[in-house]
Amino acid sequence: MTTITNISSICTAPADIRLVVVKVETSEPGLTGLGCATFTQRPLAVVEAVDKYLAPFLIGRNVSEIEDIYQSAQLSSYWREGPVLNNALSGVDMALWDIKGKQAGMPVHDLLGGKCRKAARVYVHASGNSIDETVDQAQQHIENGFTHVRLQSAVPGQSTYGTNTDLHTHATIDGPTTPQNVFGPADYVRLAPKLFEVARDRLGWEVELLHDVHERVPPYLAIQLARDLEPYRLFFYEDALPPEEIEYFRQMRQQSSIPIAMGELFVSLKQCMPLIEERLIDYIRVHLSMIGGMTPARKLATICEAFGIRTAWHGPGDCSPIGHAANLALDMVSPNFGIQEFTPYNQATLDVFPGCNNLRDGCIWPNDRPGWGIEINEALAKEFPFPDHPYNGAWPAIRDRDGGIIRP
Ligand SMILES: [Mg+2]
Repeated sequence: MTTITNISSICTAPADIRLVVVKVETSEPGLTGLGCATFTQRPLAVVEAVDKYLAPFLIGRNVSEIEDIYQSAQLSSYWREGPVLNNALSGVDMALWDIKGKQAGMPVHDLLGGKCRKAARVYVHASGNSIDETVDQAQQHIENGFTHVRLQSAVPGQSTYGTNTDLHTHATIDGPTTPQNVFGPADYVRLAPKLFEVARDRLGWEVELLHDVHERVPPYLAIQLARDLEPYRLFFYEDALPPEEIEYFRQMRQQSSIPIAMGELFVSLKQCMPLIEERLIDYIRVHLSMIGGMTPARKLATICEAFGIRTAWHGPGDCSPIGHAANLALDMVSPNFGIQEFTPYNQATLDVFPGCNNLRDGCIWPNDRPGWGIEINEALAKEFPFPDHPYNGAWPAIRDRDGGIIRP
């Protein structure tokens, strides 16, 4: 029997984004596994959960019992779910899938049933401070072979997702606000259709375009924007409503034919179910480590298949190459794969994580090495410590002009 002998967290930021990777060591010499536990706004809390709680609870367990380890570790806190504990759990869970693949001599996608496609088509981001800057970036992506591009443009003089937020000006209600910390929902929903009008004019109709609201507008504006964007034939309309307002998807569905993607802020499989059961969305896009890792995510993919909902797993820069490999394993085996969000790696990330999945022809390609087929150079990882930050990675407040908080 092969047992867990050590569980540790590795913190690294090769692209200046805080990543947490969990390493599980075993009683078999040289056999280790890696899992993604990246919650970039609270990484140190995840490290504490791994090192102080999961490691002592799981050392000595049989590595082959992934499901039981998942269930027992999750219930060991009595109160469960939530992004900190789920990321800690994901780190261990994905590492155990890596180990199982290495033991079997198979990539994880083979453990899950085998490939049903050659590669996973991705969408990338074009995010500018103006409409022209955004469309220029999109043009560049298309010239580089991408077929799916997400467009985000800032309202002039305001903050928006995908552009820089001023981390050092943590505006209070009465305090000074900067353009980077102010966001007007009504201004934004007036601008977004213009962005797509210009984009269709300049880029044509063959490229697939996407848009992410990042849950920053009230439900009635999210529904209006869905209707206003309809003429531009989006591939999907992402995270238009926050998890607290999902009942409004019924109205959005009745009033618009725009394809709907949702789930980035969900923190459990069960939270997704009302939208799936009522077929109120077209794409599920949870962040795998935020719902607890590969074990719950593969169940979610299969449930969605039964309801005709496609997958579009969250794939931002704050997802380690191990997390991306887990996304890709599901992409490879799911008949209901839709699209994969992807953020191309910089050279430092490729160096810290030897074996990263290749990006070419607008797709990411699986390697056929056992497990995730990706290692970590721990000595090099240490050369990229978490960057200095006024509140350790936490987000600053974004406010409306009257000082009220804008809730994502
Ligand atoms: Mg998003």
